[in-house]
Amino acid sequence: MRVEIVEGFRQDRFSLVEFVPAVGSDKDLLRKAKVARSDTRLSTSGWAVTNLLHLENSVEDQFWKQHLYIEKISGDLFDPWVLECWDLHRRISDSFSDLSEDVKIARFSEFVVDFIREYGELVTSSSKKPTLKDWFTEFGEIAYVVGALREIELIQNEANTLHSMTQVETMSVQIFARRSIEAAVVAKDKKAEELRQNLCKVVGDDITEATGLVAQKLRKYTSLDISQNTEMSMVVWNLQPLCLAGWLWALVARDLFNGITYKLCAGNESDETNCTREVPSVAPNGENVPHCLNCKDEEKV
Ligand SMILES: [Zn+2]
Repeated sequence: MRVEIVEGFRQDRFSLVEFVPAVGSDKDLLRKAKVARSDTRLSTSGWAVTNLLHLENSVEDQFWKQHLYIEKISGDLFDPWVLECWDLHRRISDSFSDLSEDVKIARFSEFVVDFIREYGELVTSSSKKPTLKDWFTEFGEIAYVVGALREIELIQNEANTLHSMTQVETMSVQIFARRSIEAAVVAKDKKAEELRQNLCKVVGDDITEATGLVAQKLRKYTSLDISQNTEMSMVVWNLQPLCLAGWLWALVARDLFNGITYKLCAGNESDETNCTREVPSVAPNGENVPHCLNCKDEEKV
């Protein structure tokens, strides 16, 4: 089974984005409570500190319920296909993971606002406007799966390296060494397969019946269309992203089912170390190039 991303998803960018506080929340109150709690005269009083902490938590809880207020469409569209955003799920996961170690609401809402200005909305639904907490959950799930995919890639690389050792001629005399290496390869392959099954368990090539986070997200954020590749006698699922989350989960699905791996962008000649983008072993448009779009463009100049 393989998956392919269908070209054509694009969406609005926004020039002005704000959060609307949930009813009853008070930013100033949170600040005052924090100031009061850090007051040394109070720190000797256990009940006062406890009460202030309680107040902070309930105000913070209100902040998580904030909705997005998107005021102005900037006029230009974000098109991940044209912009060759093949590594977007990994980049987003990295920047989210960087800030989530000790996430502050203010820092996270800045992160979301910047995100919307650059890429637009993550999930588009007419029925329910996502809250800040919904955004946090969505990013958290992407970061979790990307982390698991990185681990799978690592284990698979180790297995491949070990396997290539067993192909060396001189190994034939060291039968015990060879057997233990072969056993290690089997164990690593098994571990990688377990991790894959955790993310998505497909029975009989049918994603619509599959279990696991990846299958759930694909059903929610992409339209799934099955076709048969007669050349390879293989089932191919064509994934049409319905929103940006659909694009990200479709990229995840390629990594998982097609075994796509990533390398750091080779950069451009003027500055080879400058680029932090990654390039996939095979891009959704079928290309295999060592440069991201930015560096490719600069090379032409
Ligand atoms: Zn680059």
